[in-house]
Amino acid sequence: MLRVVVLGAAAGGGVPQWNCGCPVCRKARTEHPELQSTQASIAVSADGDHWFLINASPDLRQQLIATPQLHPKAGELRHSPISGVILTNGEVDAVAGLLSMREGWPFTIYAHERVLAILRDNSIFNVLNEKNVQRRPIEINAAFEPTLPGGSPSGIEILPFAVPGKGAWYLEGKVHPGGTDGAGDTLGLRVSDKATGKYFYFLAACAGVTDDLKARLAGASLVFFDGTVWRDDELIAAGLGTKTGQGMGHIAMSGDTGAIESLAGLDIDRKVFLHINNSNPALLHASPERKMVERAGWQIPADGTEITL
Ligand SMILES: [Zn+2]
Repeated sequence: MLRVVVLGAAAGGGVPQWNCGCPVCRKARTEHPELQSTQASIAVSADGDHWFLINASPDLRQQLIATPQLHPKAGELRHSPISGVILTNGEVDAVAGLLSMREGWPFTIYAHERVLAILRDNSIFNVLNEKNVQRRPIEINAAFEPTLPGGSPSGIEILPFAVPGKGAWYLEGKVHPGGTDGAGDTLGLRVSDKATGKYFYFLAACAGVTDDLKARLAGASLVFFDGTVWRDDELIAAGLGTKTGQGMGHIAMSGDTGAIESLAGLDIDRKVFLHINNSNPALLHASPERKMVERAGWQIPADGTEITL
């Protein structure tokens, strides 16, 4: 059985974002604390004892405190159920949490060579001593089985695949330490339980849905999908920023080419939005946008939501 815990569902900045006075952030600080959400990451386990994080958000420390499944085992002086971290991109909201895992517990980081190059290029990540924390390259379209401490198999198979996206923001206009070939900057993952064959998809960043991607996702029992913005120009329209969703490498929820329309009719049992920006009106429970999300069969998860497959 695969167990999946949503550690956080928000995009970079979280809800509320430290410097934001938009309607969602204001409500999250005051009369609607239930709107608060940490930055996107999930944890997955096949045996319930050993867990893998998919992305390590800047809110990781808070997420681990809030998630009993990831607490140290009773009676152990030093322990963590976390066996590894799989990174799908090199954005701050996917990698900064690694810095909260520097206290000597052994685990493995799995990432595409382009993301590993970013970690190598930023010496602060050397706090993760390579004696304890191995870094293993993963490749597009090459399935791998992350291992447990000691090297035994985890029972989880992960297939990384390329999705339309953008490189990390902070490298825009700069020399990428991984070179000029952008393939591998944004990965989607198919995560399977080897014992049961059940699987789900994880795409926290995706700039568009191609026919190939539709064919891949069709019939899945669970898909986590990019829900950054409701409409492409929402940050500009709200006076919050100058970038469009597309400019940031993210598809909109709404519209003819948006996520809701693109994934409709693909016979997906459970569709869950992740990486939702605080500007997105679908976060507000009573909003017309939220009703449209729910009517279309999508879910916006609360932090800590556990799903089993
Ligand atoms: Zn805000």
